[in-house]
Amino acid sequence: MQVAVPASAIEVSDLTKRYGDVLAVDHLTLRVQPGEIYALLGLNGAGKTTTIRMLLGMVRPSSGSVSVLAEQVRPEQSSVWSRVGYLVETPAAYPELTVRENLEIVRRLRGLTDPWVVDDVLAQLGLVPYADRRARTLSLGNSQRLGLAKALIHRPDLLILDEPANGLDPAGVAEVRDLLHDLAHRHGVAILLSSHILTEVARLSTRIGIIHHGRMVEEIAAADLTAHTRPRLTVVTRNAAGAMAALRAAGHFAELDGHGKLVLTDERALHHADEVATLLVNADCPPTRLAVEQDDLETYFLQLVGAIPAAGDG
Ligand code: ATP
Repeated sequence: MQVAVPASAIEVSDLTKRYGDVLAVDHLTLRVQPGEIYALLGLNGAGKTTTIRMLLGMVRPSSGSVSVLAEQVRPEQSSVWSRVGYLVETPAAYPELTVRENLEIVRRLRGLTDPWVVDDVLAQLGLVPYADRRARTLSLGNSQRLGLAKALIHRPDLLILDEPANGLDPAGVAEVRDLLHDLAHRHGVAILLSSHILTEVARLSTRIGIIHHGRMVEEIAAADLTAHTRPRLTVVTRNAAGAMAALRAAGHFAELDGHGKLVLTDERALHHADEVATLLVNADCPPTRLAVEQDDLETYFLQLVGAIPAAGDG
């Protein structure tokens, strides 16, 4: 029996963009499924915006292919864009028009006949109190909300958002997160977003692609990130093999980390480091160093892209 494989919402294959000597995007491959919130995470200049612009047909790739909702992206092709919503960099609005008037223009440009879509999206983005304010008087966070409202007004199947949390305060980020989760999980919308803040994408997304110098460094499920920030007891002794044998015989979960350091992750070791020290002294492998360590997410990310040395390096 053949099982139908659902089409990916985004398929990027071997995508490269070169600007003269600068390789902005370097053989990037990624896939986003319906209902998934995929975050492109990278430092400034990593290639996120260039990738997003190629996805939207705004920049022509040097090589490789991009397809969106099962159609090859070409700037002139229009059918697919009615199913895509996007927000790229600081969203532009007509400054002298009100929030409602700005959305009304987008409604007409999109050919949407239902006049209620404007009220719906105002409510969805918490913009009702600002509906009659001129766009130029909005705070950065509310301008970002207006940008999101324009991206969502036609209920797209795919949302592409460059730095959607830009300018939002923590409460605003939480609201956007709830909105994106609702769209993805209840309505099956595929979402690709970019950010340079790991803690933010850890909350917003379900899968993260870490890019650096235009290349994919690692793809990771947001749920697996916590494994990288789990506390651990690290032990250095002059006899690592002997210490490991003694610890394992006592029922601890111990591993060598590649730098000659023993790493224990079991709860008993973490909460009773004194017992571990006594055990090692009795086994004739006294520790020369013993510490409980825990990375935060930013440290993990910066180590991955080589911006700071990994623990134990150097
Ligand atoms: P940021 O978080 O700062 O927006 P980014 O990850 O979005 O960064 P890009 O804007 O895609 O990164 O830039 C990737 C690289 O390509 C950078 O080195 C940038 O200087 C270069 N670049 C981008 N656009 C152009 C252009 N039009 N001409 C020349 N170089 C460019």
